[in-house]
Amino acid sequence: MGFSVCVSRAPLAERRSLSHLIPYSSKQRPFRSLRIRAIDAAQAFDSETRQKESLEKRKALKIGVVGFGNFGQFLTKRFVESGHRVIATSRTNYSETAKNLGASFFCDADDFCEEHPDVVIFCTSILSLEATMQAFPFQRLRRNTLFCDVLSVKQFPKQLFLRYLPEHFDVLCLHPMFGPDSGKESWKDLPLVYDRVRIGSEDSRSDRCARLLQFFELRGCRMVEMSCEEHDRQAASSQFITHTVGRMLGTMELAETTISTKGFQSLLSLVDNTYHDSFDLYYGLFVYNENASAELARLELAFDQVKGQLFRRLHELIRSQQFGDSSR
Ligand code: NAP
Repeated sequence: MGFSVCVSRAPLAERRSLSHLIPYSSKQRPFRSLRIRAIDAAQAFDSETRQKESLEKRKALKIGVVGFGNFGQFLTKRFVESGHRVIATSRTNYSETAKNLGASFFCDADDFCEEHPDVVIFCTSILSLEATMQAFPFQRLRRNTLFCDVLSVKQFPKQLFLRYLPEHFDVLCLHPMFGPDSGKESWKDLPLVYDRVRIGSEDSRSDRCARLLQFFELRGCRMVEMSCEEHDRQAASSQFITHTVGRMLGTMELAETTISTKGFQSLLSLVDNTYHDSFDLYYGLFVYNENASAELARLELAFDQVKGQLFRRLHELIRSQQFGDSSR
């Protein structure tokens, strides 16, 4: 930030009478001493910065994260980086972690709600969502608070929100289809699925929802608007299968070799992106997506078919070696 320096001159008559004295001695100088009169150059810049800051502030949301585990912390870090204010609550006391991430932590859900966040995002495990909602003091929030979740299944939280939340709360279901491993570096082109389940018609409410979605968009996510039902149909054959195969390979304890091919390295990275997630998460994908068990059965059938092909051919070979021409 700089300032402008204003050189104040002597009155005109005095200046004329002194003009022959240039160059000046310190005594005879026609100019009064240099004085800082104004910081006008900086003011223009400052007011611009201030306006920008106040605009950013108006765009910034106060986001309440419920469930401050792996994913809750992952999201919080990015919210804070993007200038949003984050408060959090969880079963475990994460005060220190929250402080390190630039968020405030409330052990007590009542205190959390009395902070009146604009948005409340449930980042609990799929399995604990219902119990957490049942114990959650909604009545302490401002009317029309925006409720979101990031669960990896979508029909289930949507149904719970519609069952437990008073009519005057807005509901936006989200699924960032990436996590602390796959979205560690950049979110560019990673899918963010969303369903505006219930957003009030006032401008302020649709604007708040848009500002939250914009956070993901500005980070480069591929924004996919999709109903929760369609999400679960598609996710069962993609995400659940990915997690299942990743878990199977992780259970095999595959490790890098000196002759690893690109294909093998993709398998290792699949293990990396899935195997570190909690088993609760994986189990939730199975139990709370009505399409998951059918996909698991298909996977099992496919495995049996592939294995069957191998053994049929091997048996044929052994049989022909065993019995040779005599079998004909
Ligand atoms: P998670 O094991 O699915 O969930 C951990 C969170 O659930 C923690 O905040 C934990 O609280 C809370 N929790 C677990 N059991 C609880 C209980 N009985 N009562 C109250 N709270 C309980 O692991 P996560 O990876 O952090 O996932 C969180 C959510 O994000 C899940 O719904 C998941 O589907 C979704 N998601 C995850 C990913 C991912 O890649 N990890 C990606 C997209 C979406 P405490 O820590 O306080 O115990």
